[in-house]
Amino acid sequence: MSLRVLSIADLPVAKMERVIVHWTGGPYNASALDREHYHFLVEGDGDVVKGDHSVKSNEVVVPGRGYAAHTLGCNTKSIGISACCMLGAQEGTASRPLRAGSNPMKQTQWEKLALVAADLCEHYDIPVTRETVLGHGEVQKNLGITQRQKWDPMALPWDPNFQKPANYSAVGDMFRARVRAALKPAPTVEIPAEARVLLKNEFFPAVLEDGSSWGAIKAMAAKFGWRLIKITQKTASVQIGSETHEMDFINEDGTGYVQLVDLAKALDLQISWDPISRTIKLD
Ligand SMILES: [Zn+2]
Repeated sequence: MSLRVLSIADLPVAKMERVIVHWTGGPYNASALDREHYHFLVEGDGDVVKGDHSVKSNEVVVPGRGYAAHTLGCNTKSIGISACCMLGAQEGTASRPLRAGSNPMKQTQWEKLALVAADLCEHYDIPVTRETVLGHGEVQKNLGITQRQKWDPMALPWDPNFQKPANYSAVGDMFRARVRAALKPAPTVEIPAEARVLLKNEFFPAVLEDGSSWGAIKAMAAKFGWRLIKITQKTASVQIGSETHEMDFINEDGTGYVQLVDLAKALDLQISWDPISRTIKLD
């Protein structure tokens, strides 16, 4: 799977255990000091900026050698990523609302952070758990490492339901859910197998799907003077002569198909398959 936002060149081989997510408490642009503290930063416009220290520098924290110092007592094997925002912010309490300051964290930044985290989790084989992908404001609670009153990035300025300490864990879980969703492979859309149906010397479009064969009902009805009485999500009522027949029905890209087994039964015909011409014959 290819990376979403990070470049492979910025991800050296290292054994890392967790991703800790922050905000800088500054303006929307990454300062020189911000780049010193974090491995990757997401600026206000969504740009991802690389910090001064490589991920590898935090694998083993050696005295006298630089590393990204982002979390008190928890930098070893921890990758630090941060949104550039929340200058002058004040934490909400039970009685006082959050004050997000002059550069409130944007939803787009938070979402981009989740993509950065997903790339890191995938590349360094880090599972997405409360102990391994977490906000700085969750470190004390989830890892038992005392912090200095940290609450980044656990409040969401755009959502009044997620701005107080009582909801910080929920915010962390929402972030992890986003990371997991980003890690899921994109669903591949299958194109139904094409075929055709031969009925009374006339060919009509058909598809093979879900173990059944289906014929384009409108084209057949128009040709043979049948009436479509009623079409629902899954069934079609087709009037043939004086009788009305219920048939299984699917809609593929705006074209309605009925199950040919049902149609053959209504017409009292046999159904057979010619693999060379990919033709379903009703005769
Ligand atoms: Zn922090």
